Amino acid sequence: MPSTFEIAVFEGDGIGPEITSPTLRILQQLSQASSSYELAFNTLPAGANLYARTGESLPKASLDGARQADAILLSAMGMPSIRKSDGTEISPQLDLRNELDLFAGVRPVRISPGQRTPLKLEGGQSVDFVLVRESTEGLFYSRGTGEVGPDEARETLVITRKTSEKLFRFAFNLARQRQTAGQGEGRVTCVDKANVFRSFAFFREIFDAQATLYPDLTADHAYVDATALWMVEKPWIFDVMVTENMFGDILSDLGAGLMGGLGLAPSADIGDDHAVFQPCHGSAPDIVGQGVANPFAMILSAAMMLDWLGLRHENPAMVQDGNLLRDSVYAVIADGKQITRDLGGSSSTEEAAAAVLDRVGAS
Ligand code: NAD
Repeated sequence: MPSTFEIAVFEGDGIGPEITSPTLRILQQLSQASSSYELAFNTLPAGANLYARTGESLPKASLDGARQADAILLSAMGMPSIRKSDGTEISPQLDLRNELDLFAGVRPVRISPGQRTPLKLEGGQSVDFVLVRESTEGLFYSRGTGEVGPDEARETLVITRKTSEKLFRFAFNLARQRQTAGQGEGRVTCVDKANVFRSFAFFREIFDAQATLYPDLTADHAYVDATALWMVEKPWIFDVMVTENMFGDILSDLGAGLMGGLGLAPSADIGDDHAVFQPCHGSAPDIVGQGVANPFAMILSAAMMLDWLGLRHENPAMVQDGNLLRDSVYAVIADGKQITRDLGGSSSTEEAAAAVLDRVGAS
């Protein structure tokens, strides 16, 4: 009997529904072809447009639905034109991170030979590292509660031992998994600003203590400013890097830039019991309704979801399908004939996704 996994789906705003629908079709095809697992999708309302209509951006029923699902697939939420009375935007994706304690933001950066990148890679050279961004505290801790006076504004950065220990263990386990899969050298780099801030010296101390539990792996440190430089100058030196929330927020967009844009940047926000998979990009209001949105970041996020479910539930067929899906996307990119405008092509969202579906079906 195949195991059935319930997937909570948030289609979101802007281009969200345009990239969600082909992604679900591909997942459906994979699960229908498998005798090991089945996927049942449960689409839940949330987002800026819902907020404009009802005053709620993440209704309790949607949060409950997400909580009881086996995994959560989310496109993008938010519209710059829809704001709360304090001027900030709604952000259910951040609410989900806090509500479900999704402390580890996983942002893979992969550049395969032939892929468009602003980097000057030598022939055949590739880049493959993962940025792990703490996602529940750091400078985002005071989100929505910062103090703003007439002449001064303050936000508070919080680093806790409990979350940092979990975060570092997650990063070391990921490095070990990658090494076992032949994907990395088994190295974790703690990215901080420990030379200036006591909170980051504390962060680093916890990292060093956790590193002693993984004697088979290499642990080292880098300052965040130097890391930004090295990500551009020599990104192939990284394997797994782990950092604070705000630093990770900024560096993950730099990573997306290296990959040729946000349209190729997948992500996962993972906790002990739940996980959300979503592209790094937003709702792209400037291209909504044109049918030109790149679906690959969303499809690659779905591949990460299959990996995570497969490892968590000891279902190797799901891990295999995650790899098949990822390889299919990169094969379509390398082929270059059915890619969207942001990658230099002229295919529509549906055509690019159909090319992936064809490759998946042909395997
Ligand atoms: P954005 O990521 O939506 O767009 C930035 C640029 O990248 C735009 O030019 C857009 O057209 C392009 N782009 C993004 N995704 C693309 C794709 N799949 N294919 C082709 N081009 C793509 O960022 P923004 O404009 O700063 O934000 C728009 C809205 O999205 C805002 O309301 C913001 O709050 C929200 N947002 C949500 C998330 C999330 O849900 N995780 C993340 C970032 C921004």
